[in-house]
Amino acid sequence: MIIKTSKDEFSNYVSDAANFRGDCDLLVIPENKSELIDFIKKSNNEKNHVTIRGGGTGLTGAGVPSRGTVVSTEKLIKIIDIDENEKTVTLEPGVVLNDLQDVLKKRGFFYPPDPTETSCFIGGTIVNNSSGAKSFKYGPTRNFVEELEVILPTGEVLNLKRGSVFAENYQVRFFTYNGREIRLDLPKYNMPNTKNAAGYYTKPDMDLIDLFIGSEGTLGIVSQAKLKINR
Ligand SMILES: Cc1cc2nc3c(=O)[nH]c(=O)nc-3n(C[C@H](O)[C@H](O)[C@H](O)COP(=O)(O)OP(=O)(O)OC[C@H]3O[C@@H](n4cnc5c(N)ncnc54)[C@H](O)[C@@H]3O)c2cc1C
Repeated sequence: MIIKTSKDEFSNYVSDAANFRGDCDLLVIPENKSELIDFIKKSNNEKNHVTIRGGGTGLTGAGVPSRGTVVSTEKLIKIIDIDENEKTVTLEPGVVLNDLQDVLKKRGFFYPPDPTETSCFIGGTIVNNSSGAKSFKYGPTRNFVEELEVILPTGEVLNLKRGSVFAENYQVRFFTYNGREIRLDLPKYNMPNTKNAAGYYTKPDMDLIDLFIGSEGTLGIVSQAKLKINR
């Protein structure tokens, strides 16, 4: 794990593309998933404030730290599998959108969600439910997320597969990878019918995976995803 303690070394990590500027004490760059999990567990035990960082192309200040540690996903860049029959890609969150498109193009595929800034990371696009010009035809990122692995703020891992855990009205019950049961009351407000990326996605009887898509890193860290791709 790469750890930077000098503010000069991480000045690029305390602002975003809209020039919102914050501050932190430490930059941590895990080189694999277990380092990330260990660091999150330690931070939780020590009540250390953590801000997760993708490509830093956000425009809302959401990825700008106010204190504590910035954890960058920039070394988690494995494309684990491209299944041409199933038309899916499984990958780590630090894969740059542009790099993914290049790899897919060589195989005759593309990933439809196309935010204009292609240096963003796939993890960032998922938690922002990003969309672009192609979304007029294909819809936003949400429509392409089949599975997510999420590291919760406790360091526990959650595996979510679309179609496998649904809320009952506004209540949902699910289990972490290690079997801890979690019960949640989902927020009750009406989502606008127009395109919207603000606030948590919430609907009666919704699929739990949709709560994490668009959650802007507030519910956990996306550490792996399986996404649909098109020819
Ligand atoms: C010129 C320009 C054009 C843009 N055009 C579009 C557009 O057309 N459509 C659009 O939707 N957006 C657009 N954006 C906004 C931005 O590029 C997207 O929202 C992008 O998805 C952010 O990804 P990122 O990796 O840069 O995230 P960051 O900016 O690093 O982070 C954004 C948020 O995601 C969280 N986060 C990042 N990675 C993870 C992870 N693995 N797990 C949990 N939380 C995480 C951060 O904590 C933060 O809250 C544009 C930005 C710019 C600068």
